Amino acid sequence: MAIIASVSGVRGVIGTDLTPQAAVEFASAFGTWLGGGRVVVGGDTRPSGQMLRQAVEAGLLACGCDVVDLGIVSTPGVALMVKQLAARGGIVITASHNPIEYNGIKFLTDRGWAPPPADAEKIFAIHAKKAFAYKDSLHGGGFTEDDSTHQRHIEAVLGVVDAQKIRAGGFRAVLDAVNGAGSIATPILLEKLHCRATLMNCEPTGLFPHEPEPIAEHLHDLCAKVREADADVGFALDPDADRLVLVDQTGRFIGEEYTLALAVWQVLKTRPGPVATNLSTSRLVDAVAGRFGVPVVRAPVGEANVAAAMLEHQCTIGGEGNGGVIDPRVVTVRDGLVGIGHVLQLLAEEKAPLSTLAGSLPTYAMIKRKAALRRERLDDVYKSMKQRFAAGRFNDSDGLRIDLPEGWLHIRPSNTEPIVRIFSEAGDAAAASRLADAAAEVLRQVCGA
Ligand code: MG
Repeated sequence: MAIIASVSGVRGVIGTDLTPQAAVEFASAFGTWLGGGRVVVGGDTRPSGQMLRQAVEAGLLACGCDVVDLGIVSTPGVALMVKQLAARGGIVITASHNPIEYNGIKFLTDRGWAPPPADAEKIFAIHAKKAFAYKDSLHGGGFTEDDSTHQRHIEAVLGVVDAQKIRAGGFRAVLDAVNGAGSIATPILLEKLHCRATLMNCEPTGLFPHEPEPIAEHLHDLCAKVREADADVGFALDPDADRLVLVDQTGRFIGEEYTLALAVWQVLKTRPGPVATNLSTSRLVDAVAGRFGVPVVRAPVGEANVAAAMLEHQCTIGGEGNGGVIDPRVVTVRDGLVGIGHVLQLLAEEKAPLSTLAGSLPTYAMIKRKAALRRERLDDVYKSMKQRFAAGRFNDSDGLRIDLPEGWLHIRPSNTEPIVRIFSEAGDAAAASRLADAAAEVLRQVCGA
């Protein structure tokens, strides 16, 4: 394995790839690109986080950045502090939903989101040349600590929901924070909303009691606990608390695509406006937006692209289908806590169980596959796809998305492997399979077996 780099930063295995030396150099590249100024640094609960945080801070200080250490906080928490402290940038130490062997360094600009690709390239060019602007002994940065992130985050979420209404609902919830960064602030938020919460895995140790990606096969214990506690809802967060998934009152995992759809539903009731999401997100969002007569803007995959589209189109709500809700009044990154607030308010206002609310939306089946790709044939692949699905609407801002009456396809080449990812969605699994099969057949014809 090696370090995996993307616009949002780097990830790697601790002890072999992501060493303290590597962390110092990536942070030095970022600090050089920023040219000094205030930089907030925080991270999730992984045991390797402390080592990486101190290495990253050394690099930033050496470049003359004034470091504000936030301690163990969520990714949306760091983004919030970039804004509230008017910082020039931020670094989050997290590998999000990756297993415990991994950790990562995520860069945030002064807007609180990942650098645009052109800026990310500049940072990696500084890194490649080791052209670090280290300061002399009198011009290094200053260091302070700030432990107010959780409190500020809770207040920001309470500022965009109707806490009185939620309190009147008297809900019971089960929270599985996977011993991650959501373990600290989320129970306090639930308490402030008078939710009687059963807490699972809310020790901020970073020792994940199950695989940390919040998907159905990792959440059997949460589902059982929701039934046992006779709860209205179960919430599962990933280790850096930017993704949220839901279990209904019957103990059924309702699917990660529903989190955004339900949050959009709640927000559009009082703040109708365009909604932004990425090209691989379910049509559930379109179904909800359709009820309110507002458009859905489809951005390239990557939360910074969605955030930029939200700003451009003045969206009141947006996010990603992987359980990522972005409410720009709180932060312009995915935020599990604001998602919890909106879902609880929806339950309170609609006075119906979660299974009924989810069941009122159309049923879709989504399929995700990979296929071999000869990169030099990519243009021919797109051309043949457009011929094969001639009745479709095409969006080629990130791979190719084809919207058809019966469903949609998104074909997206990998940046790191000679493969293409095929996403399809339709009214049932068989129809979604037919779409994916047809796309795979076009790929075989153009690229050879
Ligand atoms: Mg995450």
